[in-house]
Amino acid sequence: MMPNASSKVAAITMGDLPFYSPAGSECELFERAYRNQLPVLLKGPTGCGKTRFVAHMAAKLGRPVYTVSCHDDLTAADLTGRYLLKGGDTVWVDGPLTRAVREGAICYLDEVVEARKDVTVVVHPLTDDRRILPLERTGELLQAPAEFMLVVSYNPGYQNVLKSLKPSTRQRFLALEFSFPSPDIEASIVARESGLPRDRCVPLVRIANALRDLKQQDLEEGASTRLLVYCAVLIRDGVNPQTAIEASLIEPLSDDADVKQALLRVADIAL
Ligand code: ADP
Repeated sequence: MMPNASSKVAAITMGDLPFYSPAGSECELFERAYRNQLPVLLKGPTGCGKTRFVAHMAAKLGRPVYTVSCHDDLTAADLTGRYLLKGGDTVWVDGPLTRAVREGAICYLDEVVEARKDVTVVVHPLTDDRRILPLERTGELLQAPAEFMLVVSYNPGYQNVLKSLKPSTRQRFLALEFSFPSPDIEASIVARESGLPRDRCVPLVRIANALRDLKQQDLEEGASTRLLVYCAVLIRDGVNPQTAIEASLIEPLSDDADVKQALLRVADIAL
């Protein structure tokens, strides 16, 4: 693992099949992209299932996955690797992208627009038919095996002029759009993930959807499926529903007292 602790790298062991409830044909499309060695871009709001989808598909395809949460300090070297001093010697340590290429794994760059611009430079040659990763520092030119797949995600909601994905980058990927599941499916997901009976999850999903409808007005983002799961977990654990709703569906969305009051009213009505 890279010394830069802020770039979260997770290798998921093969064998487990994380639960994922599909919304459409995304599983089949992803599998075809993998078989045809095409890179994939997942677009959608935070907490709507993108990471879970990648974990599920990776397990299904029998490939390990290296997940990197991109942030504004993440450089190309964090992905490719660097020389480190070890006991007086200088040794090369592969970064997660290089490891994924060498091992034929899936490399998932979460929120790729957050990363520094030099990241796109290392990613580009892996996204066309060359499928190569040049490592300038070691002088290696790695040819990605058929099992290697590059997956990136981004949240169009956060898009601003400085941080949008350039057409020259996005047009290198097949793109799958993710949104929140339909209420019926979301209630089942929340019940399964939290252990709270489904009929008690239905009103929570209704609240989330009422809050999501406010997105265009006062809120940058609506309540995610992830937050709904948190809410249901608290309730299942015996927390008073009103307290759970405030802590998981209201407070994370805004710091503004007036906005929070308005959200609470919307939640009350939806309940
Ligand atoms: P994202 O990567 O889009 O930010 P995640 O994949 O981390 O979101 O999803 C957050 C949580 O929501 C997951 O841990 C899971 O509990 C739940 N979740 C969301 N969508 C689904 C889905 N379609 N199937 C199963 N779980 C889901």
